[in-house]
Amino acid sequence: MKLNTRSSFTLMWDAVVECDKKYDGKFFYAVKTTGIFCRPSCKSKNPNYENICFFENAKDAIEQGFRPCKRCQPELSIVTYNPQQEIVDESINYLKQHYQEIITLNSLAFKIGVSPSYLSRVFKEKLGITPHKYLEIIRIHKAHQLLLNTVYNSTEICFQVGYKNFSSFYRHFKKISGCSPSQYRIKNGKRI
Ligand SMILES: [Zn+2]
Repeated sequence: MKLNTRSSFTLMWDAVVECDKKYDGKFFYAVKTTGIFCRPSCKSKNPNYENICFFENAKDAIEQGFRPCKRCQPELSIVTYNPQQEIVDESINYLKQHYQEIITLNSLAFKIGVSPSYLSRVFKEKLGITPHKYLEIIRIHKAHQLLLNTVYNSTEICFQVGYKNFSSFYRHFKKISGCSPSQYRIKNGKRI
């Protein structure tokens, strides 16, 4: 939306006066006397014609020193694209859904569409751990649930949560939980 023409000023002014929702996102208006900016549809009191100014996006209004209105929350329109966070989120979703399967760094990276080394680096930067470590945590937390809510023994649970051998399960379980699977069960009040 072109903001610097006379006709667009009138158009936007009308939209503000009428609280016209269809202009939301197309521009924002700020009131010089209050220092607050709004979406066109905001139901707050109409400003005086001479005190209003317009912005194409919320970021510009903030940069000019205006505060977002608490009522219409125009700052929520600022969407920050964060590809690294998306990679991490997608990976976590995948791991949560497929923890019972064999997942390697390579296979996970292939699913997400990035290189294994990049995935590993982004993961470490965002979470401080590797994707594999994250997978272990998901598996062991799942094992916790099964220990407390089912009658399966440790070996059965080991395979259910995606481990291929018991010693690996046992080792990771102890590391993450601070005790063995059977101790965990007893400690948390389940006696079978
Ligand atoms: Zn507002």
